[in-house]
Amino acid sequence: MDYTSLAGELQSLVKGSVKVHEPMKQHTTWRIGGNADLFVDPGDKDDIRRTVEFAAAHDIPLTVIGNGSNLLVKDGGIRGLVLKVGRGLAGISVEGATIKAGAGAMLPELAAAARKASVGGFEFAAGIPGSLGGAVIMNAGAMNGCVADVLLAVEVINEQNQFLTLTKEELGFSYRSSNLQNKGYICVSTLWQGYPKGKDLIEQETRDYVARRKAAQPRGYPNAGSVFKNPEGDFAGRLIEACGGKGLRVGDAEVSTKHANWILNLGNATARDVLTLIDKIKKMVQESFGVSLHLEVRVLGED
Ligand SMILES: Cc1cc2nc3c(=O)[nH]c(=O)nc-3n(C[C@H](O)[C@H](O)[C@H](O)COP(=O)(O)OP(=O)(O)OC[C@H]3O[C@@H](n4cnc5c(N)ncnc54)[C@H](O)[C@@H]3O)c2cc1C
Repeated sequence: MDYTSLAGELQSLVKGSVKVHEPMKQHTTWRIGGNADLFVDPGDKDDIRRTVEFAAAHDIPLTVIGNGSNLLVKDGGIRGLVLKVGRGLAGISVEGATIKAGAGAMLPELAAAARKASVGGFEFAAGIPGSLGGAVIMNAGAMNGCVADVLLAVEVINEQNQFLTLTKEELGFSYRSSNLQNKGYICVSTLWQGYPKGKDLIEQETRDYVARRKAAQPRGYPNAGSVFKNPEGDFAGRLIEACGGKGLRVGDAEVSTKHANWILNLGNATARDVLTLIDKIKKMVQESFGVSLHLEVRVLGED
């Protein structure tokens, strides 16, 4: 396909930017990933609809990402079009204890808007580097709070390019999961319900959460947070550490010596390095404890 001419055609339809052969390592917190054939950073909701229409008309596969903080993009990159729901859809408005926000706004921005308006329930979100769309898909959470506790509804665009509103009950939330994960819907906006709470208390709790995260989490190298989901009643990090996984290395991918459920990119790690390390860890934990670990990070693209 002639992606340069397709990019030109799509650029004439949208306000946001369209790029060709875009390195996905620039859009993942792991700083890993080959090129996307076409990459769109939409300016608003209409741009998303036009992009979906364009992809369907040209029979181009469409992949949606947020801030790329839970993604491993393979070294061969992503065929077709990648749509990044980001700054073009990042508005936040607060009314009483109800908050409406674009799917491209970030969790720490949502937490800050709630804090400013003395709205409680969003303290958990202060240190998680995900967009609201990605957070809803993953049911992101920390410190005993998660998206499912405070979300009311989301607006999505479905494969027929129609806007739908789905309530929290329709999203089938469970631990780090929602039924949007394999549906192909694009989350464009979100509606949240908190509760009145003293600003001082919110600030104090937020400071405490952020300090606890800083103390427990590795810093200094690109990563995607926890790689595996915690198995029922246990912690993936504890199991990996107990079977000697800390510091295990393949190429430039290393199991953190601070938190064994994190894999760090020490410089030039490839997706192949990370996937080989993941396989080794799974095998060690299976052999030592009879426990199957399941990925929390989402893997996209091709080898
Ligand atoms: C340092 C660090 C700390 C972290 N700490 C935590 C933590 O404490 N708790 C936690 O739960 N997670 C944590 N994470 C993981 C990550 O931040 C969350 O999973 C976050 O919710 C992912 O959001 P994102 O916008 O980056 O999504 P992405 O990684 O871009 O995408 C994740 C999934 O959502 C889909 N998606 C993204 N946006 C949309 C959209 N608008 N519409 C449809 N599908 C979409 C993607 O296709 C993909 O399947 C951490 C990550 C890092 C790097």
